[in-house]
Amino acid sequence: MAKSDNFTRELPAGYRLVKTVDAGDKRFGLLMNLWAFLLTALVGVGGFLLKFRGDLGSAFPDLGNIWLFEGWLFGILVALILYLVLHELTHGAVYRLLTGEKLTFGVKLTCAYCGVPNVYVTRKTALLSLLAPFTVFSAAFLVPFFLLSGPLSSAFLVLFAFHFGGCVGDLYDTILLLFRLKGKLLMRDTGPMQTFYILSDGENDG
Ligand SMILES: [Zn+2]
Repeated sequence: MAKSDNFTRELPAGYRLVKTVDAGDKRFGLLMNLWAFLLTALVGVGGFLLKFRGDLGSAFPDLGNIWLFEGWLFGILVALILYLVLHELTHGAVYRLLTGEKLTFGVKLTCAYCGVPNVYVTRKTALLSLLAPFTVFSAAFLVPFFLLSGPLSSAFLVLFAFHFGGCVGDLYDTILLLFRLKGKLLMRDTGPMQTFYILSDGENDG
């Protein structure tokens, strides 16, 4: 399939703006981050109970050795920062592959982002880019969580929990695209803000 089937440079006639999702908006950004926090806590506690219920202490390095514990925490912190970058690069890789267009990356107070600001992408392109980091890193963190044991396993659980919570914006857009916004659709993604356009009734038969 040609790249040009995945996006368009100009908004075709008949499309109208139906929804704006702006993570840079203070209220919406705060709400998203509250959801992210809640999901991270739920997934973290749930996974912890699932795996370490029998022996809670085995989830952590020897608490008598402060260096081991701090090393564990530091390792997780470094991995989280690396993850944040890789998450956005994964969105970017898919956008780039499907459109070949210029990308934009950045960090705001409420979110890190990647967008493809100069074009309107199809529903399929939007979904593939939105779901790529969620899929890739869920597998990358869950497999070692289940296969490994002890503090290594729990470290991957912490990463998965933050990843899951951190995907809340991507998942919100995904739900809109899959269940809420019907009809022929184009999405513009400037990074922190996504705008959704639907072809108006009467011009919908094409
Ligand atoms: Zn994302």
